[in-house]
Amino acid sequence: MRRTIVAGNWKMNMDRASGPELIDAIIDRLGGEVPSCEVIICPPYILLDVASQRLGAGPIRLGAQDVHHETEGAFTGAISVPMLRSVGCTHVIVGHSERRTIFGEIDDVVARKTRAAIEGGLTPIVCVGETLDERDAGAVESVVGRQIDVALAGLETRSEGLPIVVAYEPVWAIGTGRTATPEQAQEVHAFIRARVLAMHGTSAAEHLRILYGGSVNAANAADLFSRPDIDGGLIGGASLKAEGFAAIVEAAG
Ligand code: PEP
Repeated sequence: MRRTIVAGNWKMNMDRASGPELIDAIIDRLGGEVPSCEVIICPPYILLDVASQRLGAGPIRLGAQDVHHETEGAFTGAISVPMLRSVGCTHVIVGHSERRTIFGEIDDVVARKTRAAIEGGLTPIVCVGETLDERDAGAVESVVGRQIDVALAGLETRSEGLPIVVAYEPVWAIGTGRTATPEQAQEVHAFIRARVLAMHGTSAAEHLRILYGGSVNAANAADLFSRPDIDGGLIGGASLKAEGFAAIVEAAG
């Protein structure tokens, strides 16, 4: 039985005034109870420290939106895994489509970040997904399969499965208000699980949590999360309002 995850990706939103307010509102709205799903928030770097203090030992976990694969050195502007650990992060998003398309991150970079996160004790949330052109060209499986193969190459399966979470995020559904139908999402999730089964074996495939991301909201979350291979969501826009985010968490319960 895989425990559902709801992760909020705040992207480049919120500041030192509005960020803590949102965190407090989410804590307040969830009532301090341990939700039946795992909840993670991923604010911008400047809010990680204050978020960690606010979240304390409560059930909501803290993630970053990106990380560099080296641990320290002359990498201006970059943040390392040990730095993220030092402010209380447990997770980090890697290979988000905005990093891939806007910042030019190729599969190999995503793979290095994935390995660095695992080696440093963070759980990477590895994002994969096709563009609309790729979908229209019938290339969903070749694109997503390649992204999965490269990011997960050489990873060792532990007793609790691979030490990662995967997020399937079709690029055409991110921030567009256009959600993949539950059937479309389930089809790709099942493909990803089968790919992981072939590469890493039954235990890895059965334990792997595969999140769906792309315009998830309080109205469509329950239907998406009810599909057998959809183990929760990576939420962008709808994670910026406590009420909507909490409703998605409830839909996952
Ligand atoms: C995301 O950025 O990971 C995302 C899924 O965004 P949105 O929910 O806004 O589509």
